[in-house]
Amino acid sequence: PMPVLAVVGRPNVGKSTLVNRIIGRREAVVEDRPGVTRDRVSYDATWNGRRFKVVDTGGWEIDALGLDGLVAQQAEQGIEAADAVLFVVDAVVGATDTDDALVKLIRRSGKPVVLCANKVDGPSAEADAAALWNLGLGEPYPVSALHGRGSGDMLDAVLEAL
Ligand code: GDP
Ligand code: MG
Repeated sequence: PMPVLAVVGRPNVGKSTLVNRIIGRREAVVEDRPGVTRDRVSYDATWNGRRFKVVDTGGWEIDALGLDGLVAQQAEQGIEAADAVLFVVDAVVGATDTDDALVKLIRRSGKPVVLCANKVDGPSAEADAAALWNLGLGEPYPVSALHGRGSGDMLDAVLEAL
């Protein structure tokens, strides 16, 4: 069976954009509004000749449970089924309380994790990425899912984690 990578993060941090970048196709639905991706979806990916599955865990709708509860629930299910976690943070916004809650969840899972500092579209945002060392998950990989910047180094780290 192919190893499974769960892409986890708050709504609107760029998970679906990053999944499209990883698979090289525009299949994951990208939305400008948070919380509208329909379900957890699995895609086949290849990097450096190694094949793996990528799961976009953005399957929540905002309802009575509240956003944080739903994010955690979705993330938990995705992490459970995964061999490694790609944790995506909006580096420009910085870490939020929801991000801190997700860090705890990921830690508790014991799964290997790669930290993606997304929306680093240019050198001026590199410092925002470096600030995410504070999450305690190791090296933040600065990436622009939108433009592709940094995604190769991040994927090299993903292969080591899988
Ligand atoms: P998701 O909710 O985490 O799946 O996030 P999406 O992939 O749907 O993206 C949310 C919004 O962020 C969209 O408007 C994307 O175009 C935008 N976005 C995603 N990645 C980047 C990035 O690297 N740079 C910038 N500037 N915007 C991004
Ligand atoms: Mg999404």
